[in-house]
Amino acid sequence: MPDNAQHRCWVEIHLDAFERNLKRIQASLPHGVRYISVVKADAYGHGMPQVVRRLMQCGVDYFAVANTREAALIREMGAGWPILILSPVLPEEAPDLIRDDLTATISDFTEAQRLNTLAHSKNTTLKVHLKIDTGMGRLGVWHEQALKLYEAIKAMPSLRLEGIYTHFSSADSDPEFTETQRQRFLGLLEIINPPEDCIIHADNSAGLDSFTADRRFNAVRVGLLQFGIPPYPDSVLAGVRVEPVLHFNARIGLIKKLPTGTGISYGHTHHLPKETTIAVLTAGYGDGVPYALGNRGKVLVHGHPCAVLGRVTMDQTIVDVSGIPDLQVGDVAVFIGKSAPRQITANAFSDDAQTIPWDALCSISKRVTRVYFTPREL
Ligand SMILES: *Cc1c(COP(=O)(O)O)cnc(C)c1O
Repeated sequence: MPDNAQHRCWVEIHLDAFERNLKRIQASLPHGVRYISVVKADAYGHGMPQVVRRLMQCGVDYFAVANTREAALIREMGAGWPILILSPVLPEEAPDLIRDDLTATISDFTEAQRLNTLAHSKNTTLKVHLKIDTGMGRLGVWHEQALKLYEAIKAMPSLRLEGIYTHFSSADSDPEFTETQRQRFLGLLEIINPPEDCIIHADNSAGLDSFTADRRFNAVRVGLLQFGIPPYPDSVLAGVRVEPVLHFNARIGLIKKLPTGTGISYGHTHHLPKETTIAVLTAGYGDGVPYALGNRGKVLVHGHPCAVLGRVTMDQTIVDVSGIPDLQVGDVAVFIGKSAPRQITANAFSDDAQTIPWDALCSISKRVTRVYFTPREL
Protein backbone atom coordinates (compact mmCIF):
# COMPACT_ATOMS: atom_id res chain seq x y z
CA MET A 1 0.00 0.00 0.00
CA PRO A 2 1.36 3.43 -0.87
CA ASP A 3 2.08 5.73 2.05
CA ASN A 4 -0.48 8.53 2.06
CA ALA A 5 0.97 10.40 4.99
CA GLN A 6 2.22 13.23 2.78
CA HIS A 7 -1.22 14.15 1.44
CA ARG A 8 -3.63 16.68 2.91
CA CYS A 9 -6.46 15.45 0.79
CA TRP A 10 -6.44 12.63 -1.72
CA VAL A 11 -8.47 10.11 -3.60
CA GLU A 12 -7.50 6.49 -3.79
CA ILE A 13 -8.31 4.80 -7.06
CA HIS A 14 -8.49 1.03 -6.82
CA LEU A 15 -7.76 -0.18 -10.32
CA ASP A 16 -8.14 -3.82 -9.30
CA ALA A 17 -11.76 -3.14 -8.30
CA PHE A 18 -12.25 -1.24 -11.56
CA GLU A 19 -10.97 -4.24 -13.51
CA ARG A 20 -13.30 -6.62 -11.65
CA ASN A 21 -16.28 -4.34 -12.35
CA LEU A 22 -15.39 -4.20 -16.01
CA LYS A 23 -15.10 -7.99 -16.28
CA ARG A 24 -18.43 -8.52 -14.49
CA ILE A 25 -20.28 -6.09 -16.72
CA GLN A 26 -18.69 -7.58 -19.83
CA ALA A 27 -19.57 -11.10 -18.69
CA SER A 28 -23.22 -10.08 -18.21
CA LEU A 29 -23.63 -8.94 -21.81
CA PRO A 30 -25.00 -11.26 -24.47
CA HIS A 31 -22.35 -12.73 -26.73
CA GLY A 32 -21.15 -10.37 -29.43
CA VAL A 33 -22.27 -7.16 -27.72
CA ARG A 34 -19.46 -4.60 -27.88
CA TYR A 35 -18.32 -2.74 -24.79
CA ILE A 36 -17.91 1.00 -25.37
CA SER A 37 -16.14 2.40 -22.33
CA VAL A 38 -17.10 6.00 -21.59
CA VAL A 39 -14.09 7.81 -20.10
CA LYS A 40 -14.98 11.49 -20.66
CA ALA A 41 -14.19 14.17 -18.06
CA ASP A 42 -10.89 12.61 -17.02
CA ALA A 43 -12.54 9.23 -16.66
CA TYR A 44 -15.21 10.64 -14.32
CA GLY A 45 -12.47 12.22 -12.20
CA HIS A 46 -10.55 8.95 -11.82
CA GLY A 47 -7.69 9.99 -14.13
CA MET A 48 -7.75 9.33 -17.84
CA PRO A 49 -4.24 7.90 -18.41
CA GLN A 50 -4.36 5.31 -15.62
CA VAL A 51 -7.92 4.23 -16.30
CA VAL A 52 -7.43 4.07 -20.05
CA ARG A 53 -4.20 2.09 -19.71
CA ARG A 54 -6.03 -0.44 -17.55
CA LEU A 55 -8.87 -0.63 -20.06
CA MET A 56 -6.38 -1.25 -22.86
CA GLN A 57 -4.76 -4.03 -20.84
CA CYS A 58 -8.13 -5.65 -20.07
CA GLY A 59 -9.58 -5.24 -23.51
CA VAL A 60 -12.52 -3.06 -24.46
CA ASP A 61 -13.98 -2.63 -27.92
CA TYR A 62 -14.33 1.12 -28.13
CA PHE A 63 -13.63 4.28 -26.14
CA ALA A 64 -16.06 7.19 -25.94
CA VAL A 65 -15.16 10.72 -24.85
CA ALA A 66 -16.73 14.17 -25.09
CA ASN A 67 -14.30 15.92 -27.41
CA THR A 68 -11.23 15.66 -29.63
CA ARG A 69 -8.85 16.84 -26.89
CA GLU A 70 -9.81 13.97 -24.64
CA ALA A 71 -9.55 11.65 -27.62
CA ALA A 72 -6.02 12.88 -28.37
CA LEU A 73 -4.93 11.72 -24.91
CA ILE A 74 -6.16 8.22 -25.65
CA ARG A 75 -4.68 8.24 -29.12
CA GLU A 76 -1.24 9.11 -27.68
CA MET A 77 -1.48 5.96 -25.58
CA GLY A 78 -2.35 3.58 -28.34
CA ALA A 79 -2.85 3.57 -32.08
CA GLY A 80 -5.74 1.64 -33.46
CA TRP A 81 -8.26 1.82 -30.62
CA PRO A 82 -11.53 3.15 -31.98
CA ILE A 83 -12.66 6.35 -30.24
CA LEU A 84 -16.14 7.85 -30.50
CA ILE A 85 -16.68 11.58 -29.88
CA LEU A 86 -20.03 11.95 -28.10
CA SER A 87 -20.42 15.75 -28.27
CA PRO A 88 -20.71 17.97 -31.33
CA VAL A 89 -17.34 18.66 -32.99
CA LEU A 90 -16.79 22.38 -33.61
CA PRO A 91 -15.73 23.29 -37.14
CA GLU A 92 -12.18 24.20 -36.07
CA GLU A 93 -11.81 20.87 -34.27
CA ALA A 94 -12.80 18.82 -37.30
CA PRO A 95 -9.23 18.35 -38.62
CA ASP A 96 -8.40 16.56 -35.30
CA LEU A 97 -10.81 13.83 -36.37
CA ILE A 98 -8.64 13.03 -39.35
CA ARG A 99 -5.31 13.49 -37.56
CA ASP A 100 -6.26 11.07 -34.77
CA ASP A 101 -8.54 8.75 -36.72
CA LEU A 102 -11.61 9.46 -34.58
CA THR A 103 -15.30 8.70 -35.02
CA ALA A 104 -17.69 11.65 -34.98
CA THR A 105 -21.32 11.79 -33.90
CA ILE A 106 -23.64 13.37 -36.43
CA SER A 107 -26.95 15.05 -35.62
CA ASP A 108 -27.77 17.01 -38.74
CA PHE A 109 -27.15 17.52 -42.42
CA THR A 110 -24.85 20.54 -42.02
CA GLU A 111 -22.48 18.62 -39.76
CA ALA A 112 -22.44 15.69 -42.15
CA GLN A 113 -21.79 17.87 -45.15
CA ARG A 114 -19.01 19.80 -43.43
CA LEU A 115 -17.19 16.60 -42.47
CA ASN A 116 -17.71 15.06 -45.87
CA THR A 117 -16.21 18.13 -47.55
CA LEU A 118 -13.24 18.13 -45.18
CA ALA A 119 -12.51 14.43 -45.59
CA HIS A 120 -12.84 14.74 -49.34
CA SER A 121 -10.36 17.65 -49.42
CA LYS A 122 -7.86 15.51 -47.49
CA ASN A 123 -8.41 12.53 -49.70
CA THR A 124 -9.61 10.36 -46.85
CA THR A 125 -12.80 9.01 -45.31
CA LEU A 126 -14.21 9.72 -41.86
CA LYS A 127 -16.06 7.24 -39.66
CA VAL A 128 -19.31 8.58 -38.25
CA HIS A 129 -22.15 7.42 -36.02
CA LEU A 130 -25.60 8.84 -36.68
CA LYS A 131 -27.32 9.92 -33.51
CA ILE A 132 -31.09 9.72 -33.16
CA ASP A 133 -33.09 11.90 -30.78
CA THR A 134 -35.77 9.54 -29.49
CA GLY A 135 -36.82 11.91 -26.71
CA MET A 136 -33.73 13.16 -24.92
CA GLY A 137 -34.17 16.59 -26.50
CA ARG A 138 -30.45 17.18 -26.88
CA LEU A 139 -28.18 15.78 -29.60
CA GLY A 140 -29.28 13.75 -32.58
CA VAL A 141 -31.73 14.09 -35.43
CA TRP A 142 -35.38 13.85 -34.32
CA HIS A 143 -36.35 10.22 -34.93
CA GLU A 144 -39.18 11.09 -37.31
CA GLN A 145 -36.74 12.91 -39.57
CA ALA A 146 -33.90 10.43 -39.35
CA LEU A 147 -34.50 8.41 -42.51
CA LYS A 148 -33.72 11.38 -44.73
CA LEU A 149 -30.46 12.15 -42.93
CA TYR A 150 -29.47 8.47 -42.95
CA GLU A 151 -29.85 8.35 -46.71
CA ALA A 152 -28.03 11.63 -47.20
CA ILE A 153 -25.04 10.39 -45.18
CA LYS A 154 -24.97 7.11 -47.05
CA ALA A 155 -24.70 9.07 -50.26
CA MET A 156 -21.69 11.10 -49.04
CA PRO A 157 -18.63 9.40 -50.51
CA SER A 158 -16.12 10.55 -47.87
CA LEU A 159 -18.16 9.48 -44.83
CA ARG A 160 -18.38 5.91 -43.61
CA LEU A 161 -21.51 5.31 -41.53
CA GLU A 162 -20.24 2.84 -38.95
CA GLY A 163 -22.92 3.14 -36.27
CA ILE A 164 -26.32 4.44 -35.23
CA TYR A 165 -27.27 5.28 -31.66
CA THR A 166 -29.63 7.01 -29.30
CA HIS A 167 -29.42 8.16 -25.68
CA PHE A 168 -31.91 7.68 -22.85
CA SER A 169 -33.05 10.70 -20.86
CA SER A 170 -34.57 8.92 -17.87
CA ALA A 171 -33.24 5.37 -17.71
CA ASP A 172 -32.70 5.76 -13.95
CA SER A 173 -36.14 7.18 -13.16
CA ASP A 174 -38.75 6.41 -15.81
CA PRO A 175 -38.66 2.86 -17.22
CA GLU A 176 -41.82 3.51 -19.22
CA PHE A 177 -40.34 6.44 -21.12
CA THR A 178 -37.11 4.50 -21.65
CA GLU A 179 -39.17 1.78 -23.29
CA THR A 180 -40.85 4.42 -25.47
CA GLN A 181 -37.40 5.62 -26.56
CA ARG A 182 -36.29 2.04 -27.21
CA GLN A 183 -39.36 1.37 -29.36
CA ARG A 184 -38.95 4.60 -31.32
CA PHE A 185 -35.35 3.63 -32.03
CA LEU A 186 -36.19 0.05 -32.98
CA GLY A 187 -39.06 1.30 -35.14
CA LEU A 188 -36.69 3.54 -37.02
CA LEU A 189 -34.20 0.70 -37.48
CA GLU A 190 -37.01 -1.38 -39.00
CA ILE A 191 -37.51 1.32 -41.60
CA ILE A 192 -33.90 2.11 -42.46
CA ASN A 193 -32.71 -1.48 -42.13
CA PRO A 194 -29.00 -0.84 -41.62
CA PRO A 195 -26.47 -3.47 -42.67
CA GLU A 196 -25.56 -6.29 -40.23
CA ASP A 197 -22.16 -4.83 -39.38
CA CYS A 198 -23.58 -1.45 -38.33
CA ILE A 199 -22.90 -0.75 -34.63
CA ILE A 200 -26.26 -0.17 -32.94
CA HIS A 201 -26.24 1.18 -29.39
CA ALA A 202 -28.51 2.84 -26.86
CA ASP A 203 -27.71 1.74 -23.33
CA ASN A 204 -25.83 3.75 -20.72
CA SER A 205 -25.31 2.33 -17.22
CA ALA A 206 -28.92 2.78 -16.19
CA GLY A 207 -30.14 1.43 -19.52
CA LEU A 208 -28.61 -1.95 -18.65
CA ASP A 209 -31.58 -2.43 -16.32
CA SER A 210 -33.88 -2.82 -19.26
CA PHE A 211 -31.32 -4.01 -21.76
CA THR A 212 -33.19 -6.53 -23.81
CA ALA A 213 -31.09 -8.92 -25.75
CA ASP A 214 -32.81 -7.63 -28.84
CA ARG A 215 -30.45 -8.74 -31.53
CA ARG A 216 -30.49 -5.23 -32.99
CA PHE A 217 -28.41 -3.85 -30.12
CA ASN A 218 -24.82 -4.94 -30.54
CA ALA A 219 -23.06 -2.45 -28.24
CA VAL A 220 -23.51 -0.66 -24.90
CA ARG A 221 -21.95 2.60 -23.64
CA VAL A 222 -20.98 2.25 -20.00
CA GLY A 223 -19.64 5.07 -17.84
CA LEU A 224 -20.63 5.31 -14.17
CA LEU A 225 -21.22 1.62 -13.49
CA GLN A 226 -17.66 0.58 -14.35
CA PHE A 227 -16.50 2.88 -11.53
CA GLY A 228 -18.55 0.81 -9.13
CA ILE A 229 -21.42 3.24 -8.69
CA PRO A 230 -24.97 2.14 -9.45
CA PRO A 231 -26.84 4.92 -11.28
CA TYR A 232 -29.69 4.63 -8.79
CA PRO A 233 -30.02 2.75 -5.52
CA ASP A 234 -32.24 -0.21 -6.40
CA SER A 235 -30.92 -0.78 -9.90
CA VAL A 236 -30.74 -4.35 -11.15
CA LEU A 237 -28.21 -3.73 -13.89
CA ALA A 238 -28.34 -7.15 -15.43
CA GLY A 239 -27.58 -8.65 -12.02
CA VAL A 240 -24.07 -7.19 -11.96
CA ARG A 241 -22.57 -6.51 -8.55
CA VAL A 242 -19.94 -3.77 -8.59
CA GLU A 243 -17.40 -2.50 -6.06
CA PRO A 244 -16.49 1.13 -5.37
CA VAL A 245 -13.29 2.24 -7.07
CA LEU A 246 -12.76 5.71 -5.62
CA HIS A 247 -12.22 6.74 -2.00
CA PHE A 248 -12.05 10.43 -1.05
CA ASN A 249 -10.15 11.39 2.10
CA ALA A 250 -8.80 14.40 3.94
CA ARG A 251 -6.97 14.76 7.21
CA ILE A 252 -7.61 16.49 10.48
CA GLY A 253 -5.58 19.72 10.55
CA LEU A 254 -6.72 21.06 13.92
CA ILE A 255 -8.79 19.85 16.88
CA LYS A 256 -10.32 22.17 19.48
CA LYS A 257 -13.09 22.50 22.02
CA LEU A 258 -15.53 25.42 21.63
CA PRO A 259 -18.12 26.71 24.09
CA THR A 260 -21.90 26.53 23.78
CA GLY A 261 -23.34 29.15 21.45
CA THR A 262 -20.26 29.61 19.26
CA GLY A 263 -21.14 30.39 15.64
CA ILE A 264 -19.30 28.15 13.20
CA SER A 265 -17.78 29.17 9.84
CA TYR A 266 -18.77 31.98 7.44
CA GLY A 267 -22.16 33.50 8.09
CA HIS A 268 -22.62 31.57 11.33
CA THR A 269 -25.23 29.23 9.86
CA HIS A 270 -24.69 26.92 12.82
CA HIS A 271 -24.40 27.74 16.53
CA LEU A 272 -23.15 25.06 18.89
CA PRO A 273 -26.02 23.87 21.11
CA LYS A 274 -23.50 22.57 23.64
CA GLU A 275 -19.78 22.47 24.24
CA THR A 276 -18.34 20.74 21.19
CA THR A 277 -15.03 19.36 19.99
CA ILE A 278 -14.54 20.34 16.39
CA ALA A 279 -12.02 19.15 13.84
CA VAL A 280 -10.91 21.30 10.94
CA LEU A 281 -10.40 19.10 7.86
CA THR A 282 -7.85 19.91 5.18
CA ALA A 283 -10.29 19.96 2.27
CA GLY A 284 -13.01 22.35 1.12
CA TYR A 285 -14.96 23.22 -2.00
CA GLY A 286 -11.68 24.05 -3.76
CA ASP A 287 -10.99 20.33 -3.55
CA GLY A 288 -14.45 19.18 -4.52
CA VAL A 289 -16.16 18.96 -1.14
CA PRO A 290 -19.58 20.19 -2.28
CA TYR A 291 -20.60 23.56 -0.80
CA ALA A 292 -24.05 22.03 -0.39
CA LEU A 293 -22.66 19.69 2.31
CA GLY A 294 -22.65 22.66 4.73
CA ASN A 295 -24.76 21.65 7.76
CA ARG A 296 -25.92 18.53 5.88
CA GLY A 297 -23.00 16.27 5.18
CA LYS A 298 -20.99 13.89 7.26
CA VAL A 299 -17.57 12.29 7.24
CA LEU A 300 -16.24 9.20 8.95
CA VAL A 301 -13.46 9.52 11.49
CA HIS A 302 -12.23 6.33 13.19
CA GLY A 303 -15.47 4.71 12.03
CA HIS A 304 -17.70 7.39 13.63
CA PRO A 305 -20.05 9.55 11.56
CA CYS A 306 -19.25 13.24 12.17
CA ALA A 307 -21.62 16.01 11.08
CA VAL A 308 -20.39 18.91 8.97
CA LEU A 309 -20.86 22.11 10.97
CA GLY A 310 -21.60 25.40 9.21
CA ARG A 311 -20.60 26.22 5.67
CA VAL A 312 -17.94 24.34 3.76
CA THR A 313 -15.14 26.81 2.97
CA MET A 314 -12.68 26.84 0.08
CA ASP A 315 -9.86 24.99 1.83
CA GLN A 316 -11.40 23.61 5.01
CA THR A 317 -14.44 21.82 6.34
CA ILE A 318 -15.44 21.80 10.01
CA VAL A 319 -16.91 18.67 11.62
CA ASP A 320 -18.13 17.61 15.04
CA VAL A 321 -15.78 15.07 16.60
CA SER A 322 -17.13 15.27 20.15
CA GLY A 323 -16.67 12.07 22.10
CA ILE A 324 -14.33 10.31 19.69
CA PRO A 325 -11.41 9.00 21.73
CA ASP A 326 -7.71 9.22 20.84
CA LEU A 327 -8.04 11.77 18.06
CA GLN A 328 -4.91 13.32 16.70
CA VAL A 329 -3.99 15.93 14.17
CA GLY A 330 -3.20 14.06 10.95
CA ASP A 331 -5.91 11.44 11.39
CA VAL A 332 -7.93 10.55 8.32
CA ALA A 333 -11.48 11.75 7.63
CA VAL A 334 -13.39 9.89 4.94
CA PHE A 335 -15.80 11.69 2.59
CA ILE A 336 -16.33 8.72 0.27
CA GLY A 337 -15.19 5.25 1.28
CA LYS A 338 -14.79 2.95 4.24
CA SER A 339 -13.86 3.61 7.82
CA ALA A 340 -14.71 0.35 9.53
CA PRO A 341 -17.36 -0.52 10.46
CA ARG A 342 -19.00 2.21 8.39
CA GLN A 343 -18.97 3.30 4.78
CA ILE A 344 -20.10 6.33 2.79
CA THR A 345 -20.91 5.45 -0.80
CA ALA A 346 -20.58 7.91 -3.67
CA ASN A 347 -24.38 7.71 -3.92
CA ALA A 348 -24.87 8.70 -0.26
CA PHE A 349 -22.27 11.47 -0.57
CA SER A 350 -24.06 12.86 -3.64
CA ASP A 351 -27.48 12.60 -1.99
CA ASP A 352 -26.24 14.61 1.00
CA ALA A 353 -24.85 17.18 -1.43
CA GLN A 354 -28.21 17.26 -3.25
CA THR A 355 -26.54 16.31 -6.49
CA ILE A 356 -25.84 13.23 -8.60
CA PRO A 357 -22.76 10.98 -8.47
CA TRP A 358 -21.65 12.02 -11.98
CA ASP A 359 -21.42 15.65 -10.83
CA ALA A 360 -19.85 14.82 -7.46
CA LEU A 361 -17.06 12.80 -9.12
CA CYS A 362 -16.33 15.40 -11.81
CA SER A 363 -16.12 18.07 -9.10
CA ILE A 364 -13.18 16.52 -7.26
CA SER A 365 -10.63 19.11 -8.29
CA LYS A 366 -7.12 19.00 -9.72
CA ARG A 367 -5.74 20.00 -6.31
CA VAL A 368 -6.60 16.55 -5.00
CA THR A 369 -3.85 13.97 -5.45
CA ARG A 370 -4.91 10.72 -7.09
CA VAL A 371 -3.21 7.72 -5.53
CA TYR A 372 -3.41 4.53 -7.59
CA PHE A 373 -3.53 1.10 -6.04
CA THR A 374 -2.43 -2.13 -7.63
CA PRO A 375 -1.42 -0.89 -11.00
CA ARG A 376 -0.90 -4.00 -13.06
CA GLU A 377 2.61 -4.48 -14.36
CA LEU A 378 2.83 -5.93 -17.82
C1 LIG B 1 -21.82 10.04 -20.55
C2 LIG B 1 -22.57 9.26 -21.54
C3 LIG B 1 -22.77 7.87 -21.38
C4 LIG B 1 -22.39 7.13 -20.10
O1 LIG B 1 -23.43 7.26 -19.17
P1 LIG B 1 -23.37 6.55 -17.74
O2 LIG B 1 -24.69 6.86 -17.17
O3 LIG B 1 -22.26 7.19 -16.98
O4 LIG B 1 -23.14 5.11 -17.96
C5 LIG B 1 -23.36 7.17 -22.40
N1 LIG B 1 -23.77 7.79 -23.53
C6 LIG B 1 -23.61 9.11 -23.72
C7 LIG B 1 -24.10 9.74 -24.98
C8 LIG B 1 -23.03 9.90 -22.74
O5 LIG B 1 -22.89 11.21 -22.92
